[in-house]
Amino acid sequence: MNLADIPVTTLPGVGERKGEALAELGIRSVADLLEYYPHRYEDYRLSDLAAAENGSKVTVRGIVRGQPGIRWFGKKRSRMAARLDVDGLFIRVAWFNQAFLKDRIRPGQTIVVSGRWDRHRLEVTAERTFIGEEEQKKHLGRLEPVYSVGGNVKMQWLRKLIYEAFVRYGKEIPEMLPEELIRRYRLMPRARAMYTLHFPRGTEDGRLARRRMVYEELFLYELKIMWLRRLQRTSVQGIAHSFDDADVEAFINDLSFPLTGAQRRVVGEILGDMRSSVQMNRLLQGDVGSGKTVVAAIALYANWLSGHQGALMVPTEILAEQHFRSLRDLLEPRGVRVVLLTGHQGARERRDVLGQIGMGLADVVVGTHALIQDAVSFRRLGLVIMDEQHRFGVRQRALLREKGEAPDVLHMTATPIPRTLAITVFGEMDVSTIDEMPAGRQPVDTYWVKKDTWPRIIRFIARECASGRQAYVICPLIEESEKLDLQNAQELYEQLTVRLAPVRVGLLHGRMSQAEKEEVMRLFAENVVQVLVSTTVVEVGVNVPNATVMVVYDADRFGLAQLHQLRGRVGRGGGASTCVLVADPKSEHGVERMRIMTETTDGFEISRRDLELRGPGDFLGVKQSGLPEFKLADLQEDGRILEVARADAASLVERPDFARHPETAPLYGMLTNLGLDRITFD
Ligand code: ADP
Ligand code: MG
Repeated sequence: MNLADIPVTTLPGVGERKGEALAELGIRSVADLLEYYPHRYEDYRLSDLAAAENGSKVTVRGIVRGQPGIRWFGKKRSRMAARLDVDGLFIRVAWFNQAFLKDRIRPGQTIVVSGRWDRHRLEVTAERTFIGEEEQKKHLGRLEPVYSVGGNVKMQWLRKLIYEAFVRYGKEIPEMLPEELIRRYRLMPRARAMYTLHFPRGTEDGRLARRRMVYEELFLYELKIMWLRRLQRTSVQGIAHSFDDADVEAFINDLSFPLTGAQRRVVGEILGDMRSSVQMNRLLQGDVGSGKTVVAAIALYANWLSGHQGALMVPTEILAEQHFRSLRDLLEPRGVRVVLLTGHQGARERRDVLGQIGMGLADVVVGTHALIQDAVSFRRLGLVIMDEQHRFGVRQRALLREKGEAPDVLHMTATPIPRTLAITVFGEMDVSTIDEMPAGRQPVDTYWVKKDTWPRIIRFIARECASGRQAYVICPLIEESEKLDLQNAQELYEQLTVRLAPVRVGLLHGRMSQAEKEEVMRLFAENVVQVLVSTTVVEVGVNVPNATVMVVYDADRFGLAQLHQLRGRVGRGGGASTCVLVADPKSEHGVERMRIMTETTDGFEISRRDLELRGPGDFLGVKQSGLPEFKLADLQEDGRILEVARADAASLVERPDFARHPETAPLYGMLTNLGLDRITFD
């Protein structure tokens, strides 16, 4: 019997209309109903008033002393009060707008009330009142589930219905997890855990039930991911790159700096993947300035040594140009031919570049989205690197991978994602992390100032420019009003041009043409322009080492990740750098963000705090972030369970008897039922 196939309308008391109302809540089958978990519980267990905190919810039982008094405020509003003897402690109970209870509450009667406890006034503001033995027996001592209800579905009715469903079908709830895992973690059996989640006997009971079901949920999720990974690995024949370690080592030794330990480690992980015949699918994360580009260069070099072409895809033209230049500087002295492909090249140049790629004359291609167009065909693509991969959709990622015969793929991101999120959203990838900055990096001094100090900030910028430094001044994109947004930047630009003369100020905004933008960036990079006012976020990854000042105007309008990226634009040269956040935040969160920025420069710490402030959905920002919706699991709280479940799922799919063993065969069946017997990442 499959509970998912039994319509909820087969339960007594669920007719067509109730059925529709339940469907509105997403409940169609009996299985849906059993898994419609409460989001909290009403606690009707007797409280110890001596220990109860002020303002907490309590449930007490006592004897009514004296006649309750009632006062009316107008026709509808009232306040009734009575004295209650709770085991010798005399307290007061207040009922607001519940005058209907007046005739039911009599002196000498034992009643149970539940509500907020005012410790100072020894008073309970009653929310629920249970009079009479029957009612008290029904509720007292229980944790009652609170569901999200609506329409024609009422709380009490739903509770009863769920209870009924368990009576009828509880025995049919199948166990999903292999016995071995249940034993290893002493998990509550599935049927009992599901029942307990609705009707826990106590807090501990409920906690154990939740733990069991969260584990199951995460395990089943990871099982799908691990299964897909395994299929991909076994069905796709990757390129087993072959190169000489000594040659790679020589390249590394020729760099103008020694690699950090973290860089060495991730290079090892990446080269290991490249050597193996399994197709690499790896995420490389590292804070801004942690040195990902050089890691990419080493991988591209090894790829070239083994006789393959490589591609680096970046989200913007300016970045493409910049990466093109740095890769050319690093690789061309060794004979690697690096070319640039963007959407803005003239037809002839483009044809020429495409020809070189097609004939295998170009070894490394740096480009934007233009790289994934049909016209681009490689001769022997062996490695694809995508920078800032979160800006590319899943579809784009897949398109580029299809360009060659299963090339190795490396994704790079400067937005560190806490590990639990990373393995959830990018679960099909391996993750490498650069968690160490090159030596001698000076952390950027960060200040938060109010707007009324603006004149002083201008003087500060002037002083820095006088000593040969450069500054960014960023103002936010005001989405409601593009006009206002531009006006802000324009005004700042004009003001600074006048106040800072003879220092040259440049303006960069979203409505300039690509050529105009590039021209301004070039002038700034060459120090012809000393101060750059920009509306749009300065392109992620631009590198102007002489810039040491980052001023962010209305900084509270930016998210933490953005602020951190912006701050990463300075502190790249040798000099001490400063970041000034100018903001009068209006919200608590705004204040908190400013505080976090001044407290730490560690990107991982910032993203952890950001996740705390905003929760996973908002943190990832985009709707199609790939974040799964879990019924019970909370990625922030249940990170440890996720790790364990992931490891268990990984080893299960490798078991030779996975498909056949009676305990695991149903799971295997589930995977094939889901159509996961083919690769369906997209
Ligand atoms: P990311 O791409 O991770 O933001 P980059 O690769 O642009 O960082 O590196 C930032 C700067 O640090 C570059 O100028 C680069 O040459 C330099 N760099 C990279 N690795 C090291 C290192 N191990 N020691 C010193 N400087 C380094
Ligand atoms: Mg490989």
